[in-house]
Amino acid sequence: MAQPSQQHLQGVQQAWSRRGKDLGQTLRVSRFSSVAQPAPQCLIRDIGYVQAQVRPVLTEEWVRQSAAPGKLTAMATVVAFHAHPDDEAILTGGTLARLAAEGHRVVIVVACSGAMWPSHGTVRLEKFRRSAALLGAARAEHLGYYDSGHGPMLFPDPPDGIRFVRADLAEAADRLASILREEGADLLLSYDPVGGYGHPDHIRVHEVGVLAARLTGVRVLEATAPRELAIQALAVLNAVRLVVRHPMRDVRGYGTPRSAITHRVNVRRQAAAKRAALAAHLKPVKGEKRKGRMSRLFGVALALPAPVFGLFFGREWFTEPGAGPGPVLSDVLRSRP
Ligand SMILES: [Zn+2]
Repeated sequence: MAQPSQQHLQGVQQAWSRRGKDLGQTLRVSRFSSVAQPAPQCLIRDIGYVQAQVRPVLTEEWVRQSAAPGKLTAMATVVAFHAHPDDEAILTGGTLARLAAEGHRVVIVVACSGAMWPSHGTVRLEKFRRSAALLGAARAEHLGYYDSGHGPMLFPDPPDGIRFVRADLAEAADRLASILREEGADLLLSYDPVGGYGHPDHIRVHEVGVLAARLTGVRVLEATAPRELAIQALAVLNAVRLVVRHPMRDVRGYGTPRSAITHRVNVRRQAAAKRAALAAHLKPVKGEKRKGRMSRLFGVALALPAPVFGLFFGREWFTEPGAGPGPVLSDVLRSRP
């Protein structure tokens, strides 16, 4: 097995020190090794390059047991890049909650503030931070852009900022790349080429994600949904007029054909966390009057009993660009062989 590079080891070391802070512990990274070191003072063992496990207090017994092959859990830092506040909960909430619960470091970045104009304030960013915390994320960041809107016209930029679709691609990718480097990220979650359903800000997330991944060499998975399922679901939602602006000729290009999906994550056990995160976005704060059809749709979803909610929102999908043929994987930290 290849020896980890110095850069990788530094990344692991930094990630674990931060993880220690999140846990309210001081985790001292004493040494790395490509083989298990059954020594109590060895707080992190980087076994075979990606596998590491930390215990704040180590006992010899623990070291002896966990040194057994196959016992060590891989730890990773995952950065999820999203367009707007609430996308993180809807598209990847379960996956992120699951990763965080497994002990991985989860960072969520939104490109846009959720506001079209300065007068809309920062209320949606505040909700985003609450949602991220409910999902178990250690850090939530805003890349600094305004929403572009999804209507037929693109409004001019607000006086104090830039709409995400007008952002300079290289500059936006640089901002994301610096977070990826700072975090020593192992995985970037971004969007598929149509941004799921063609929203210009979502398509921009895809473009910025591709470039940031190229700049940093971080592995990328793109959040999506099976096209066949999107067509079925939107046909129903259109019929009951719970959504508009999704003519069926457009819907046929949404998501990714089922055959091209590489990862399908079962998040039914995270339904409660996902639901709580979504609820954090929908709960109106004082003076807020935003009740679009989309929030009505999710309002209906929140009213469902938990198991039924899990049925509808219990799966999340990703594609890994460039992946060869193979089985559909259930763990985003794994790639097809
Ligand atoms: Zn969005």
